[in-house]
Amino acid sequence: MKTATDADGVATKAHDCAYIAGAWRPVSSAEMLPVVDPARETVIAEVAAGRASDLDRAVAAAREAFPAFAASPVSERLALLERIHGLMLERAEPLAQTLAREMGAAISHARAAHVPLAAAHIRAAIEVLADYQFLTLRGTTAIVREPIGVCGLITPWNWPLYQITAKVAPALAAGCTVVLKPSELAPLSALMFAQIVHDAGAPPGVFNLVNGTGVEIGAAMAGHPDIDMISITGSNRAGALVAQAAAPTVKRVTQELGGKSPNVLLPDADFPRVVPLGVMAAFRNVGQSCSAPTRMIVPRWKLAEVEAIARATAQAITVGDPLDDRTVLGPIANRAQFDRVQAMIEMGIAGGASLVCGGPGRPHGHDRGFYVRPTIFSGVTGAMRIAQEEIFGPVLCIMPYDDVDEAVAIANDTVFGLGGHVQGADVEQARAVALRIRTGQVHLNQPAWDAHAPFGGYKRSGNGREYGVFGFEEYLETKAILGFAPAPL
Ligand code: NAD
Repeated sequence: MKTATDADGVATKAHDCAYIAGAWRPVSSAEMLPVVDPARETVIAEVAAGRASDLDRAVAAAREAFPAFAASPVSERLALLERIHGLMLERAEPLAQTLAREMGAAISHARAAHVPLAAAHIRAAIEVLADYQFLTLRGTTAIVREPIGVCGLITPWNWPLYQITAKVAPALAAGCTVVLKPSELAPLSALMFAQIVHDAGAPPGVFNLVNGTGVEIGAAMAGHPDIDMISITGSNRAGALVAQAAAPTVKRVTQELGGKSPNVLLPDADFPRVVPLGVMAAFRNVGQSCSAPTRMIVPRWKLAEVEAIARATAQAITVGDPLDDRTVLGPIANRAQFDRVQAMIEMGIAGGASLVCGGPGRPHGHDRGFYVRPTIFSGVTGAMRIAQEEIFGPVLCIMPYDDVDEAVAIANDTVFGLGGHVQGADVEQARAVALRIRTGQVHLNQPAWDAHAPFGGYKRSGNGREYGVFGFEEYLETKAILGFAPAPL
């Protein structure tokens, strides 16, 4: 059996096992999936491609473990989550190094965001569970919330560890047992997380991990008769396929999918402050965030000023080796996404948008690695494909408006509805605009991140919510017991 980490604590080896029923067990196929370091374009590890029979073993283990875990005292689940949280913090540096290698996160960003925010989901689940009332009374009727059962969790490559804890932590807190299928493109931090859950002493079968492709394992999970719920974060394509495959078994499906989030700069905003912040928010994680504010919606009479500030901001960004402490943006995480971002930049030019900075090809000085030039388009209209399609790279669209009603209309002119941002000095007006934006989250004037704020999509951005109590309740069923309490005399 090969272990999940090498001597440096960094996962860079072949991993020929799945984690099933409390142990690393060989999978039934010899096929290995390569993991490519996007900065060097070299294979740094391979993981075993699980088969449907491996998934069956994992689901059976989760099913067997479910009754006891569902009935476990809250104190035991809190203690388990505390141990997982503690081990994540202890192993923060090797986790950050692994994320930098498997998907190109700048090491400073991996240390400051990927790992601590992943740990924050565990902390939030602990806080929710500690206070949660699983039984409440409404007159003589008891409303009981119970864990839904065996959960299949499917996660993407852009925030690999963070997306895992956003699902695993509330699922375990609720008393569910889980089978995780991480992204086949960035599975190494997931293996390290599985080892953490093991070392934290999770009872066998409570947490299981099977690597594999979406087509093989993801689809088999969605259709599996013994999985009660699927939570997927990924593309709209995969989210819709999961919902279709899940329909015959009538399982619950929650989806966190794509986005094209607006950032509305109201006329009284402090432009020298909010434009740089908006550019950096759009480019965070190399623009590979589903809720990235990639459409900056600005007063037409401010366009030239916004373009100048945005250009200066983008041109000052250090793009480079993710393992270098000075790097702000590493490469795009994989070749398919790199090709897509390049194609979208070409499409923006062909579609008539004006190029403020960046453009096709790699940045100067890079002839290898999936590096992209931070790119800004202006004069973008809703009719252009770059205004409508998710690009998932460091590409910002500046869209002009003539009055605030038009700004709101542009913000809502998308099939997506995940994130939204509003900047303005008059807080009353900013609030009023936020209330008119049809998205699951709106950020007013650059607030701090909130691990308890529900996160999820309106429209085609998904169904259901993650984080905090809303995320936790997705993993619960609701039972009403009428006549539970004595009727009043
Ligand atoms: P993807 O959809 O290709 O893959 C996501 C996961 O789904 C992977 O584990 C993959 O193996 C699996 N999968 C693929 N096809 C499947 C199928 N037919 N059945 C079951 N599972 C399948 O997406 P990606 O390329 O990994 O991630 C990028 C996309 O995800 C972007 O569009 C982005 O907006 C979206 N995303 C959304 C959120 C969110 O929270 N809303 C977060 C991250 C990424």
